[in-house]
Amino acid sequence: MGHGIFASRSRLWGPLVWRGDASLPARVALTFDDGPHPEATPRTLDLLAKYGVRATFFVIGAQAGKWPELVRRIVSEGHLLGNHSFSHTRWGGFGFTAYWSREIERTSRVIDEIAGVRPAWFRPPFGVKQWHMHRAVRRAGNTMITFTGRALDGLATTPERIVARLVPGAAAGSILALHDGSVSTVDRPVKPTIEALPRVIEGLRARGLAIAPLDELIEAAPYASPVSVEAAPAQTRAGALNS
Ligand SMILES: [Zn+2]
Repeated sequence: MGHGIFASRSRLWGPLVWRGDASLPARVALTFDDGPHPEATPRTLDLLAKYGVRATFFVIGAQAGKWPELVRRIVSEGHLLGNHSFSHTRWGGFGFTAYWSREIERTSRVIDEIAGVRPAWFRPPFGVKQWHMHRAVRRAGNTMITFTGRALDGLATTPERIVARLVPGAAAGSILALHDGSVSTVDRPVKPTIEALPRVIEGLRARGLAIAPLDELIEAAPYASPVSVEAAPAQTRAGALNS
């Protein structure tokens, strides 16, 4: 199709994608944040395999370092990895550019060491975006990926509410955000997500929405190419977006 990246917002701050290609055949993408998690991630992967769905996992660098086998499993089962910061703290909202550059680079390096790839996509912790973060993302040559709809399953919820939040409102091009991990000190209720996932997948398909990998939905490469990890892609990508 060759439209480049779809639904780019926030041109002043740099590339941000919150929705993918809305053309037919209708497709959506599933994404999972805050993992890898020793209980939630394997169960999520089992379900995705059962349904033949390829998803994107926006992993936290510190978690990835703790559970490298899970990171490798994500990749070996055909899913994509994104960067969801290294430490995922609420204080990050106050961070300057150097802070975000470090968060992005540390995570990128951990993922590279484990899986041999450097994510080109960054998702802000807690969905909170700010100018310094945007600048660091741009300098890293990354694209900020948010979502069209989210399960809010990082909070106390039920499978029914997750399905109701995601399925009826989904449309061609939707990027849907769920969780396969826990970052709070209180154990997050990942169980409702596991229970909801089959119903979410079946519900989307019943509505005529195929579930596609995010790189196909937004027509952008998930990983930096080995020769262009430095500054060049930021300019190229930003230029393509702004045109
Ligand atoms: Zn998160």
